Amino acid sequence: MTRRSIVAGNWKLNKTPAETRQFLIALKNKVAGIETRAEILVCPPHVALDAAVDTARETRIAIGSQNTYWEDSGAFTGETSTGMLEALGVTHTLIGHSERRALFGETDEMVSRKLQKVLQSELTPVVCVGETLDEREGGRTEEVITRQVTAALQGIAPDYAGRLVLAYEPVWAIGTGRTASPEMANDVHVLIRRTLRGIFGDSAAEGIRILYGGSVKPDNAQTLMAKSDIDGVLVGGASLDPMSFAEIIRAAP
Ligand code: PEP
Repeated sequence: MTRRSIVAGNWKLNKTPAETRQFLIALKNKVAGIETRAEILVCPPHVALDAAVDTARETRIAIGSQNTYWEDSGAFTGETSTGMLEALGVTHTLIGHSERRALFGETDEMVSRKLQKVLQSELTPVVCVGETLDEREGGRTEEVITRQVTAALQGIAPDYAGRLVLAYEPVWAIGTGRTASPEMANDVHVLIRRTLRGIFGDSAAEGIRILYGGSVKPDNAQTLMAKSDIDGVLVGGASLDPMSFAEIIRAAP
């Protein structure tokens, strides 16, 4: 089965609405000259989502949020519901990014609640998992990844498998300039797919896209995406510059 690749940018806490417009105008001009089947996704901060959706209208660039919440409305200061994101024209959302887990206390259980809610909406979830350096060096990568994937997907019916996107992001490779070697990354992707087979069965698991994230740059994107189970990339730092992000898009199959 050929899975259509995804090149996604996670801007984290960067870019105002005006900077977002400027970036997307530059990116859409570059993307017009690139031949690739890849889906393109940009995830700006919440305050810039409206500007992003507006500027990316009628292009092949989809807009995602970096986070969402499991309640629709009420006394949840600072949160944004899936319905609010949909009303803006947002089509994707990250869930469980390692910075959300490490800095904002997101647990496996919260990730699972968010995913359940997102699957009741029209948004496409990108569920992030990844081990820390301590966990890798302690030989616990397999245990941690299996736990995170299983916990996130708990209670999700196989019918929803086609809508899922996962992202493997080793925490030690995020923003550090240390990339997992393509072989090392692919081994974990194979492990994730094996876990997905156990949950959803062979055929559903085959169709689920698994992205790699962690210091992806124009010069390593192609070798990473050439691996059997790496179906695209989730890019932080290198997605902030339209030129380098476009180069990564160009590298996608
Ligand atoms: C990320 O934040 O998802 C990420 C992978 O960051 P970077 O590419 O900067 O390592």
